[in-house]
Amino acid sequence: MEKFYKLLFALLISLLLPSSFSMAENAEITSFRWTARNDGDPPFVRIAMDLSKAIHAEAAIDNEGKNFEVILKKTSMGKIASQYDMDPRAIDFATVSERDGDTYLDVALSKAQKIDDIRVFALRPDAKLKKPHRLVIDIPVLGAKQTYKKPAASPAPTTAKPSKSSQSSRSSQKYNVSKDAKSALKGKIICLDPGHGGTDVGAIGHIGGKDVYEKDITLSIALPLRDMLQSAGAKVVMTRSADKDVYGPWANATPELQARCDVANEAHADAFVSIHIDSFANGSIDGTTAYYTAKSSRDLLLAQMMHQATQDSLAIPDRGVKSNDFYVNEHTAMPSVLMEMGFITNSHRAKMLTSKWAPKSIAQSLFNGLVNYFAAIS
Ligand SMILES: [Zn+2]
Repeated sequence: MEKFYKLLFALLISLLLPSSFSMAENAEITSFRWTARNDGDPPFVRIAMDLSKAIHAEAAIDNEGKNFEVILKKTSMGKIASQYDMDPRAIDFATVSERDGDTYLDVALSKAQKIDDIRVFALRPDAKLKKPHRLVIDIPVLGAKQTYKKPAASPAPTTAKPSKSSQSSRSSQKYNVSKDAKSALKGKIICLDPGHGGTDVGAIGHIGGKDVYEKDITLSIALPLRDMLQSAGAKVVMTRSADKDVYGPWANATPELQARCDVANEAHADAFVSIHIDSFANGSIDGTTAYYTAKSSRDLLLAQMMHQATQDSLAIPDRGVKSNDFYVNEHTAMPSVLMEMGFITNSHRAKMLTSKWAPKSIAQSLFNGLVNYFAAIS
């Protein structure tokens, strides 16, 4: 390997407890899989490895750009296979081998690539989804066109029940916005995704014996946010602007969520913001969380900006910025964030979220976050 590999970058795969780097025991690859993904632009091949604990990894490419290597430090390859045939549009073959306590993934690329176009990132364990530490590698299929189409068997979105609430699809309202906001947002395409809708009510809270639904709160935040963004000259694409399913009634989670990603991907949005309200069995839990998937450095930046803006202007406890592989974050082609704006199962918060003023003030904070994000990357 030494003869042609040039180390171009090193990645710190996880910054968990220092004990995860203890010399005592190697990490192990517990699962290795790959998928051809046509939902990105360009399409890509995703290689994912489950790991028994956090690791260091380094990635390198040779001068020709045709041999890509990832070194998983102090990692053994467990029971996974050592050879893989993958999507030949991007990869001739891949081999996994173990040497001196490290595991090497060597990928023979069918076309020369630049190291910056290959994404290598880590995902932390997710207790809720029962997912371990993961290392993910996305290799673009050069020269291919995005071909993802909605499955033909789908009920068309138009078969969704007509909106119950005509008020929620009201025409937009003008807001006074600052010069700075206008210069940051003018011409930007922003996709807003009010979580759930239609047959999917989302999380349920109770106020005085009455049920309140996450789907109504997310929309009540998204609509004024849309209007603020439009007032600043942004182009806003909504996954829904009324109480309806995006894919169709009673759809499984994946097509419903993919339909939301499709809206953003087809619009070539510059940013995607999914708005949700959290829930938990324990009613005392509350707080906002900004979730992102590190598809690029901008996902984290967007999440940080949105998180900071909500902390600056809202009196909702802070649960931080967290990395996760939520479907809509993973399957959108642009920087995206999923904002959980408090817990519907906390009765104080549920009252606030369903009040007249709160959705607008939450929208204002999300608006500020988007202004700061676009100002930062301009
Ligand atoms: Zn939700």
